[in-house]
Order: sequence, then structure tokens, then C-alpha cells
Amino acid sequence: MKNLVLFGPPGAGKGTQSEKLIQKYGFVHISTGDLFRWHTKNETPLGRQVKEIMNSGALVPDEITIAMLREEVKRHPQAGGFLFDGFPRTVAQAEALDALMRELGTAIHHVIALEVDEQELRQRIAKRKAIENRADDEEEKLNKRITEYFTKTIHVLPFYEKQGRLVRINGVGKIEDIFAAICNELDRKK
Ligand code: AMP
Repeated sequence: MKNLVLFGPPGAGKGTQSEKLIQKYGFVHISTGDLFRWHTKNETPLGRQVKEIMNSGALVPDEITIAMLREEVKRHPQAGGFLFDGFPRTVAQAEALDALMRELGTAIHHVIALEVDEQELRQRIAKRKAIENRADDEEEKLNKRITEYFTKTIHVLPFYEKQGRLVRINGVGKIEDIFAAICNELDRKK
């Protein structure tokens, strides 16, 4: 089983690349953002708990996020490999993910960071807002999400880098070229 963490700021193209990677490699896709959106939309107790936090653009506390992720991973005992999208976003989450993988007798084999500068991110999110109208893409919330990324999530990179597990890929360019660069990396370390 090969597991991948796809890492990057809001608007880096994680969702787009995830879809293509799932099609090609058959990963089970776990997006904590999608899971939280499902819970809020369906007004589950968890959804009610996190709605305000999400709408403000802040990160959901680690304890809640990690518990949800563990449950989701355990729902797929037959998975050939997981693609984690939007998780981990803090060092505590990265450590919890390693512990969970160890419990399952596996590991995180690839950590790919999609790198996109802040100006490009804001332009992309403005475009997405026009199509999807996500509550957390509004400017104030977007600022908060980008700040959360550059103050908290960015620290996850050195965590993986120190262990020699991080691969940085330029996330600006044609979708197909970025996809090819990611596939190249996955296939290189088979
Ligand atoms: P995303 O679609 O990945 O940008 O996630 C949307 C929102 O869900 C984030 O702004 C957070 O409020 C929450 N969220 C998603 N993943 C995480 C995570 N790993 N840790 C904390 N909060 C998260």
C-alpha cells in the first residue's frame, strides 16, 4: 500500500490534481475539507460544532480533525493506498498521521508540496469563488485561510523535509504538466 500526502495552500490545485491521481492510481481520497463540508451541509453534531470555525477561515482544532480522519481511514480497510488532501495541516496532525499509518502497518510514502505564490493563489480563488461560491472564499475569510497556512501549516514542511520525505513541485503552469511532474515522482519511487 502506497500513501500520499498532497500538500499546498488554499488554491494550489490539490483538488484538481487529486481527481486525476485517483483516476490513474486508484487511491482512496481523504479530503478533510470535503469531510467537514459534508458534515456541515448535513448538519451532523460534528458539522454544527465546526461550522462557525470553518466559515471564519480558521483551522478546526487538531483533536476534532484527527478523530474524524482516523474514523475515515478505518472505514476503508481494503484501501490500496490513501491520498490525503488538506491533511496534515499542523505538526500534531502530521505526527498523528504517522502513528495511524504505523498502527495499520504502513507509512506515508510520498509527501508532495504544490508550490504557488500568494498573488497567483488569490487570483485562482477569486475565479473559483465566481463558480462555486464557497462561504470561506470571501475576502476576509480567505485572508484568514491564507494566514493560517503561512503561520501554522507551513511548519509541516520542515517536519517532512528533515526526514527527507518532502518533494516540492511547482504548482504554477498547465494542469497536465503539473500532473506529469507528480506522476513522475510517484513512479520514480515505486
Ligand atoms: P479546505 O477545503 O481543505 O481548504 O478546508 C476547508 C476548511 O476546513 C479549512 O479552512 C478548515 O476550517 C477546515 N479544515 C480542513 N482540513 C483541516 C485540517 N487538516 N485541520 C484543521 N482544519 C481543517
